[in-house]
Amino acid sequence: MNVLVLNCGSSSAKFAVIDPSVPREHVSGIAQRLGAPEATLDWKINGTKESRRIAGAWHDAALRAVVALLRDLGLADDLVGIGHRVVHGGSKFSGSMAITPEVISKIEECIPLGPLHNPSNLVGIRIAQELFPGTLQVGVFDTAFHQTMPPVAFTYPVPYEWQSAHGVRRYGFHGTSHRYVARQALVQAGLPADDHAIVTAHLGNGCSCTAVRNGRSVDTTMGLTPLEGVMMGTRSGSVDPAIIGHVAAALGQPEAKILDALNKKSGLLGVSGLSNDMRAVEEAAAGGHARAQLAHDIFCYVLAKAIAALVVPLGRLDALVFTGGIGENSAAVRAAVVGRLRFLGLVLDAAANAQHGRGQHGRITVETRPQALVVPTNEELMIAMDTSEIGQQA
Ligand code: ADP
Repeated sequence: MNVLVLNCGSSSAKFAVIDPSVPREHVSGIAQRLGAPEATLDWKINGTKESRRIAGAWHDAALRAVVALLRDLGLADDLVGIGHRVVHGGSKFSGSMAITPEVISKIEECIPLGPLHNPSNLVGIRIAQELFPGTLQVGVFDTAFHQTMPPVAFTYPVPYEWQSAHGVRRYGFHGTSHRYVARQALVQAGLPADDHAIVTAHLGNGCSCTAVRNGRSVDTTMGLTPLEGVMMGTRSGSVDPAIIGHVAAALGQPEAKILDALNKKSGLLGVSGLSNDMRAVEEAAAGGHARAQLAHDIFCYVLAKAIAALVVPLGRLDALVFTGGIGENSAAVRAAVVGRLRFLGLVLDAAANAQHGRGQHGRITVETRPQALVVPTNEELMIAMDTSEIGQQA
């Protein structure tokens, strides 16, 4: 039942071979710094890390090296399918799809919405088709889970024609992660599948929160692009868009450059002046660095406000789920956010909160409803599950 999961970025390609029926991950790894002399293929198998140099390799050579590795490991044969992470599916995909020429055309049509990601995702699909002719290929879209949002949640209050003419609307991202952790939370929190109200907070380098009502996304914080919403590692999240013109005029720089700074030089990095990495920010704050502390405070404050706002479409809150590198590992972020949300009935269990780390899940509040819990995400497993499900339908 093995599935090869591929996530091709602009200078890296992540991969994993997973049997979703167990579930079991046989191997996972990343080909990174593609195109550079120091490009490597790093992988983890049975808890051991290994590495090969693939100097100068681009996606093509890197994926060939991945396949050679899988052959060495006896994992390249009898794959039931290959699941590809695709970032932007626009309004064209509301679920995972077997790749056909028509699906590829639609992914190409979404390039203006995801110019940084979709082209690399397509490269991965093309190479995988060449390397594994006749094997099922499936596209799993970051945006698909959010296609159930109602117009009141996805329509921006801007000139209405922008939506039909230019695709301007909220799409949302991290859908595979939100979908996975919401499903897991149902089981862990003992909530009924047909009547639940969950907010999922995916806090990694990128951060977003989603309101999930009865298994469906009803609103989310990211928008047309992943820039909107809560504060992130290098992204500002929502700010007054007039900042762009104001700073561009003040600095005599093009607006595109300011927009770039909102994506790459803002968030934790921008406020702290130190790092986009939450660990580094927390260490500096603990050492008395005032701007690191401010960055941490803003991160938690904005997050708590966004989570509270997502209770509006839900009408009530049964569970708040923390996931992603920060959500799974930062007890300080979870404590600060839950502390600010006490008015919703969330009461932190400090001992339980301190225990949870990556790979560990569980409740971090004293009450059973509403409750906050940590659920480790596993986007690769979700992609493998979708791929094998589509394989069984075929
Ligand atoms: P990505 O979005 O790239 O998958 P991750 O989900 O791995 O990223 O999350 C990366 C973030 O998680 C970084 O900000 C990192 O500092 C943070 N993180 C990881 N471990 C810890 C920890 N022990 N304490 C606080 N933050 C952590």
